[in-house]
Amino acid sequence: MADTSLDLTLDAARLTAQLVDFPSVSGTEQPLADAIETALRALPHLTVDRYGNNIVARTHLGRPERVVLAGHIDTVPIAGNVPSRLDEDGVLWGCGTCDMKSGVAVQLRIAATVPAPNRDLTFVFYDNEEVAADLNGLRHIAEAHPDWLRGDFAVLLEPSDGQVEGGCQGTLRVLLRTKGERAHSARGWMGDNAIHAAAPVLARLASYQPRRPVIDGLEYREGLHAVGISGGVAGNVIPDECTVTVNFRYAPDRTEEDALAHVREVFADCGVAEFVVDDHSPGALPGLSHPAAAAFIEAVGGTPQPKFGWTDVSRFSALGIPAVNYGPGNPLLAHKRDERVETAKILAAEERLRAWLTA
Ligand SMILES: [Zn+2]
Repeated sequence: MADTSLDLTLDAARLTAQLVDFPSVSGTEQPLADAIETALRALPHLTVDRYGNNIVARTHLGRPERVVLAGHIDTVPIAGNVPSRLDEDGVLWGCGTCDMKSGVAVQLRIAATVPAPNRDLTFVFYDNEEVAADLNGLRHIAEAHPDWLRGDFAVLLEPSDGQVEGGCQGTLRVLLRTKGERAHSARGWMGDNAIHAAAPVLARLASYQPRRPVIDGLEYREGLHAVGISGGVAGNVIPDECTVTVNFRYAPDRTEEDALAHVREVFADCGVAEFVVDDHSPGALPGLSHPAAAAFIEAVGGTPQPKFGWTDVSRFSALGIPAVNYGPGNPLLAHKRDERVETAKILAAEERLRAWLTA
């Protein structure tokens, strides 16, 4: 594009198009981060801080509550879908329209047009959300400048189809290994079959009754599943090792420690020789009973939904800040070649946030 500045006087739908036409695939966010920083620094009611390609802008009005509005500025790789295209039905097509430049546009519009909000505001624009967790800009800010993220409630403007999605489930992956003794299968009685030894593990998984706890009015659905199994040496050898990979998706009323203890207990008497934690990300409580969250839900309407997958809301939760997802895009369209967003939904999200923050 000829012009590398952002025009925050455009409505959120047109601003989304401008952001989409400003490519920012993960790892290449710097020009867009520069443009966002420049646009925000022009707003006298905000202080602006930058860490890498992460921009944090804040009001300092001395309000009793502070709300964080956060969004990532990177996208997945472009799939022949930039520049954006607005069709006659008011649908905007292109990479990042849904996930999540429409949400970023709403953040920028609120930053530009609500100079005296009823709650102090913190706007977070971060890089590298679509790639490995150790690159995630929100994580980097949380580690280097946790005070920048301080607040009473956070809204991530990730695509949620205009629904409030509260909290998120945790995910734990463990390797359950059984051991045996190798032998020639012609003389199998000389060995001890580690694959057979995994049978109690599988039986326990098959009969497991997951919980469906209700937290802050949202029903979560836990799940404990084998997601992989490996074992075997050769076609004529009794195997001496078998590994069942188990994934536990758990509701956010369990801590990481609780979740791990639970899985250990489930398989305690199943003859598991080795129990290895392969991956663990905690869940996030929805925090919908917090006054700021309750007011938010009242303002945006609809019935909050639980979030079953893991999202960056749990990074806020780890800082003690309840957080939800609320964004205009339809999450089912994220990352697709035909990614798109209804411009009416972008404008509706902007209006509802404005109503909440100016009531
Ligand atoms: Zn996203």
